[in-house]
Amino acid sequence: MPKHIDGGLTNTRNAPHVLAAVQALLHCSAMVDFILDDLEHRESCKSLLCMCCALFKLYDEIEKRGIGNPTTFVHKWNDVSKMMSAADRSSPLKVLEIFIDKLRFEQVDRNDE
Ligand SMILES: [Zn+2]
Repeated sequence: MPKHIDGGLTNTRNAPHVLAAVQALLHCSAMVDFILDDLEHRESCKSLLCMCCALFKLYDEIEKRGIGNPTTFVHKWNDVSKMMSAADRSSPLKVLEIFIDKLRFEQVDRNDE
């Protein structure tokens, strides 16, 4: 049975595209398997900017309370999208593309250590 999270995200002002992308990530069973299996990393991670750990925290919050606060992801998106066109800044597909890239780069950085 595919694994995904059943729950919601608290609404944030002016960021439905970010919430849609985060919901999509948390409904992807391979992504959920990955973040749940990433225990060794989580126990040693000291980065406050780690996307993988932030995704796990959000997953865990939704799992325990039925609802999670996606503010971290809205802030991440606001930081990385400053120089983008208005169309890209409000595109859920662009959010998904950039967030998945960030997760991949984090993996590469880990493997280099
Ligand atoms: Zn981490």
